[in-house]
Amino acid sequence: MTEVTAPPGAAAPGGGRRLGQLAELPVTVLRGVGDAVAADLGELGITTVFDLVTHYPRRYIDGSRMVTIGELKVGEKASVLASVTRVTAPPPRGGGGRRPPARVEVEIADRGGRMKVVFFNQTWRAKQLRVGTLALFFGAVTSFRDAPQMVSPTVEVLRGADEEATGDSGQDGMPEAGRIYPVYPLTEKAALTSARIGRLVHEALDRAGEFADPLDVDVRTQYGLLDRTAAFAGIHRPGSMPDVEPARRRLAFDELLRLQLALVLRRQRLHEDARGIRHITTKSDGSATLVDQFIGRLPFPLTGAQGRAVADLVADLGGPLPMHRLLQGDVGSGKTVVAVAAMLIGVEGGHQGALMAPTEVLAEQHVTEVRRLVAGLEVTDASTLEGRRPVSVALLTSRTGAADRTAIHTGLANGTVDLLVGTHALLTDRVAFDSLGVVVIDEQHRFGVEQRAALRDKGRGDDGTGSDPDLLVMTATPIPRTAAMVVFGDLDMTVIDELPPGRQPVTTTWARTPLEAQHAWARVREQVASGHRAFVVCPLVEESEKIEAASATEEAERLAAEELEGLRVGLLHGQMRPAEKEQAMEAFRAGDLDVLVATTVIEVGVDVPEASVMVIEDADRFGIAQLHQLRGRVGRGGDPAWCFLLSESEAPEPAARLTAMEESTDGFVLADVDLELRGEGTILGARQKGRSDLKLAKLLSDRDLVVDARGLAVALVAADPHLADHRLLIEELRLFVDEDEAEFLFKS
Ligand code: ADP
Ligand code: MG
Repeated sequence: MTEVTAPPGAAAPGGGRRLGQLAELPVTVLRGVGDAVAADLGELGITTVFDLVTHYPRRYIDGSRMVTIGELKVGEKASVLASVTRVTAPPPRGGGGRRPPARVEVEIADRGGRMKVVFFNQTWRAKQLRVGTLALFFGAVTSFRDAPQMVSPTVEVLRGADEEATGDSGQDGMPEAGRIYPVYPLTEKAALTSARIGRLVHEALDRAGEFADPLDVDVRTQYGLLDRTAAFAGIHRPGSMPDVEPARRRLAFDELLRLQLALVLRRQRLHEDARGIRHITTKSDGSATLVDQFIGRLPFPLTGAQGRAVADLVADLGGPLPMHRLLQGDVGSGKTVVAVAAMLIGVEGGHQGALMAPTEVLAEQHVTEVRRLVAGLEVTDASTLEGRRPVSVALLTSRTGAADRTAIHTGLANGTVDLLVGTHALLTDRVAFDSLGVVVIDEQHRFGVEQRAALRDKGRGDDGTGSDPDLLVMTATPIPRTAAMVVFGDLDMTVIDELPPGRQPVTTTWARTPLEAQHAWARVREQVASGHRAFVVCPLVEESEKIEAASATEEAERLAAEELEGLRVGLLHGQMRPAEKEQAMEAFRAGDLDVLVATTVIEVGVDVPEASVMVIEDADRFGIAQLHQLRGRVGRGGDPAWCFLLSESEAPEPAARLTAMEESTDGFVLADVDLELRGEGTILGARQKGRSDLKLAKLLSDRDLVVDARGLAVALVAADPHLADHRLLIEELRLFVDEDEAEFLFKS
C-alpha cells in the first residue's frame, strides 16, 4: 500500500488524513489515471481525490438478495445480475426490401445458470455487452423453448468486458452472491463504469488511511455518529446493506454541519460589525407608543401568536444589533399587522420603514392595506403648525409617474415619507432615505446575500454614516421548519402558528370530470343565491401575462353566458390599470358583483368576508403553495366555504398535489408535501453557491440531522466565535464556500 504524500507539516494535530489535503491532489495521482480517464472523471465533476471520495453511490445492488437465473419464474419481472458469456451480433446491413428487425442475442450467466437475452433494433448492444461484461438486467421473464429469456430488458452495466474483475467479483468474472455492488452516478459522455469508479475510490481510501475527524468522540457519541474513516468505508464499500445508513448519516451530518456553520458564522460576522439602531419601544413618560396606539385601534385583538411575534420584534428592535428575523405564518394568519407594527416601531424614533413585495401587483395591494391599517395614526413633526401630522405612506413602483416619483424621492430624503411600499427593486434603485429604520421583505422567491448587502448600504447612506436597518423577512407561504433552518439559517425565526378566530376550514374537492365540475358551478349559484360571493381563478399561463389576461376575459364572458348565466360576473387581471382593478375589487367587495373571474392577481391581499366559494380552473397547473394561497381567500367570514379544483389531469404529480389540497388546509403540512413532491432542489435553489454540498443529506427524511447540526453549529460558534480551536472545520468549510464568502466568514 502506497501512502499519498502530504505537503510537509500538513498533517492535522492528532494526525489523520484531511479532506483539504485530498482536495489538493489531482486524480492523476491514482494508479492508471492518465489524461483520458482524468477527462472522463472531469465529466462527472471529479478533478481531485476529494471530489472522488465524495462522489457517492447512487444506490447499491445487493448480491445476496438477487434472484439467480435458476430461480427465475416465467411471467414475472425480475432483475438479474449476470456476466455476458456470448454475443451474437446481427449480420451487417445491406441491400433493400423488407427485412426482420436487427436482432442482438446475448447469453448471460450467473452461478445459477444461463439465459438468453434478446434485443431488437438495438444493434449497439453488441458493442456494449461484450463477453465478460457484468451488468444488471431488468425485465419480464418470458419462455423460449422451455428456457427463460428476457426480451429487450433495461441494462445497467457495472463492469466493462476488459476491466479487471479483482475485487468486485470472483476470479471467473461471475457475480458473487454475497457482495454489495455500489452503483455510481455516471454520465453518457464519460466512458466509465461503476466498477471502475469503485476501484479508484478503493485505492484512494486505502492510500488515504485514517481520516482526521473534526468531531471528537464525545460529540460523535452524543449525536450517534460513526467516525469519518468508518463512514467513508461504509458508504463506498459496505460489507452488507446495514453498513450503509450509519455511514450516510455521518457524512450527511458533515454536510449539514458545514452548511449551518457557514450560516451561523455569517450571522456572527454581520453582528460584529453591525451598526444597529436601538429603536424606541417604550416611552419614558409612560404614554402610548405608536405601536400601542396601532394595536389598540385595530378592529380585532391580536391573536396569541401575533402577540408573541410582536414581542419578538420589540425585543429585537429595542436591542443594539440589527434584527434579522424570518416571520413564518400560514395564509391569513395576519402577518401584515405584525409587519406594520415592526415598521411603526421604527417610525416612532423618527426613522422610516420600507415594505417590499416580490411583484408590483402585490406592492399595490400592500399599500392599500397598509394605508387602511395606519389611518388615523400621527407622528410628531415640528415643521407643522400642530406639531403633528398623519403617518405618511408612499408607493413606488416602475409604474409610478415621473412627477410622483420626484415627490416621493424628496419625501424619502427629507423624512416626510414614513412608510414606503414597493418592489425588491427599491433596494437597487437610486432612492435615498433620510433614515431607513426597518425593512420588511415579503419574500416569494429569494432574498439573497447580495440584496442583504444592498439593504445595509441603503441604511448607511451615500456618506456611509447611517445605521443598519432592521430586517424582517416574511414568507408568503410556510416552508417546513427544518428546510427553513437550511434556507434561512442566518435569520432568527418567529412562527405564527394560529389563525384569527372564526376561520372556517374550506371544504376542498378535486373535480375530475365535467359532471363534477357542474357540481362546482351549482355550488356557486347556490351560494350566490344565499347572499355569498365566489371567485373563479383562471388557468395560469406561463408564457405571458397578456395571454393570461385575454383568456381570463374570454372565460368571464363564457361563464356569464353559460354556467353562471344570470349572475353578475366581473373580471380582474394583471393587465388592467390600477384604477380599473380597484373598481372591480370594490364592486365585488360591495356586492355589486356576485362572481369575480380573476387571474392569480387575487392571490394575496384580497379580503372579502362574503366570499364562500372558489373555483380554480386547470388546477393542475398550479403549485401547492399557490393553490393554498388562493384558497386562503375564501372562508374568512365565519360561514362554511368551498374550494373546487377543476382538473381532468391524470398525471401522477398533479394528482398528488390536488389530493394533498383535498386532505389538508394546514399550510405547514402542505409545505412538507410540497417538499416531498418537488424535492429539495427548488427550495435550496439559489441559496447554494459554489460546490453543492448537500449530496447525501435529505431535508425531509434527515430532519433530526438538520436540527442536530444546527444545534452543534450554534454551540460551537457561541463558544468559539472564530472557530480558533476548530481549524479542521474551517479548512473543510473553505472547500465549500467561494472566496468572497470565505473572506467574509473567516476574517478576524
Ligand atoms: P397573511 O398576510 O398572513 O396571509 P393578512 O395579514 O393578510 O394575512 O391577514 C389576513 C386577514 O386577517 C386580514 O383581513 C386581516 O385584517 C385579518 N386579521 C389579521 N389579524 C387578525 C386578528 N388578530 N383577528 C382577526 N382578523 C385578523
Ligand atoms: Mg399578506
